[in-house]
Amino acid sequence: MASPNIETIVSLAKRRGFVFPSSEIYGGLGSAWDYGPLGVELCNNVKQAWWRWMVYERDDIEGLDSSIILNRMVWKYSGHEDTFSDPLRECRECNSRFRADKLEDEQSEASAAEQRKTEPNFRALVPRGAWFSAGKIKCPNCGKVNWTDEKPFNLMFQTHVGATAEDDESSLVYLRPETAQGIFINFANVLTTSRRKLPFGVAQIGKSFRNEVTPGNFIFRTREFEQMEMEYFVKPGEDEQAHQEWIDACHNWFTSLGISASNLRLYEQPKEELAHYAKRTVDIQYRFFPERDEDERQWDELMGIANRTDFDLRTHSKKPEDAEGKRLNPDSTEDLSYFDEANKERFYPYVIEPAAGVNRSVLAILMDAYSEKTNNKGETRVILKLHPSLAPIKVAILPLAKNKSEIVALAKSIKRSLQPSLRAVYDDTGGIGKLYARQDEIGTPFCVTVDHQSLEDEAVTVRDRDTWEQERVKVSDLQEHLLNRLKT
Ligand code: ATP
Repeated sequence: MASPNIETIVSLAKRRGFVFPSSEIYGGLGSAWDYGPLGVELCNNVKQAWWRWMVYERDDIEGLDSSIILNRMVWKYSGHEDTFSDPLRECRECNSRFRADKLEDEQSEASAAEQRKTEPNFRALVPRGAWFSAGKIKCPNCGKVNWTDEKPFNLMFQTHVGATAEDDESSLVYLRPETAQGIFINFANVLTTSRRKLPFGVAQIGKSFRNEVTPGNFIFRTREFEQMEMEYFVKPGEDEQAHQEWIDACHNWFTSLGISASNLRLYEQPKEELAHYAKRTVDIQYRFFPERDEDERQWDELMGIANRTDFDLRTHSKKPEDAEGKRLNPDSTEDLSYFDEANKERFYPYVIEPAAGVNRSVLAILMDAYSEKTNNKGETRVILKLHPSLAPIKVAILPLAKNKSEIVALAKSIKRSLQPSLRAVYDDTGGIGKLYARQDEIGTPFCVTVDHQSLEDEAVTVRDRDTWEQERVKVSDLQEHLLNRLKT
């Protein structure tokens, strides 16, 4: 089934407690979202699946959890202070501000569709800003065409550490806009304490912050979000092959979580889009906008896999010098080069970076899992066909008669016996049809029904979310039965 649009997921997410608009009782805060009881479980399950796959199931990755607020020098030498910006234009009529490149992409689409017929790669040929200069881009707020010139807008949030004055430059720090830099500055610490040899990687999951000019599309683009990043250090020359291997591995990881391959595609970033440090970057895109007519516009980035060269370790090192022998980084106290014992050579490793957003992954997972099915009464039911490992709740225990105390007691004791190994819930707040529908809608793989017969034969009915098929299972075999079926 084709994925639903994001709006369908927004309403399901709010209705069932996955995601709520943040600060709603005070009128909300633009593009900030809170994860409810089911949302936090889903996010945790995605992060656990990534960590298991990335760190535990391989032999060459270590974990790390670095600070959100780092020394300002980190962002000076990483290049973020100078270059981590988006192009901004302001409407002179209504003072609304927009990200110029996105606006141009959106509004030039009608002519783009025509031009693409004869020149598929036409975007690379039309200089950025051309549609603005031609007066073709209207302000989405007031409809006028009267723009300021484009200027870079730095996306890093600023704050101050310590009890200093707001304007004290020396106390200025940033909330990290990516988790990666925390890994680079710890390269030598991890290397010496874990006694690793190349190639090896360091993984980190954590919050990042970007003061996005135009956030939106629900949890797709927010100012506070969570990233799952891994920096894989390799010998120069071995970078291209390692990069390709990570691209393939990441694509397979998403399909192993149940995301349909037809909703995923690889996007090779053209040279003019590449970050200043990158040799090659491939994005894994998801069909986040299936409602758009033109196929090209249905896709957007789910994760990026970049070959960052040796830029990061070199730039944070004290040693490299310019032609006059002046240190390029006079502030660093460490050299982050690597000594290869086998060949007795010293060099700065290249870095391959698979970087995914937790929230964008959750959105893609919800969209891909969404399906509808009609029951024998002709009613349409939503089924969230989440991969069992991601489902917030694995099993719901439902008593068929809530006024029969023996049935309720048995159901509750089954729930308690399962919960140390499975996330289980008990629910008796409706008729059985309604209870099943509720669990289908939140993606619970199994419902267990306790009925009058259970008191006689010590067996219960296990109902499958996707097929609605039911089978009778002995209470004594239930845990093993469910754990086996959840593994598939
Ligand atoms: P975009 O082009 O969409 O702004 P990006 O290329 O700047 O993203 P990266 O710096 O490569 O993103 O970050 C890695 C991942 O972090 C992205 O693929 C995405 O999943 C996630 N991410 C980045 N920015 C945001 C955001 N503002 N909100 C939610 N997730 C984000």
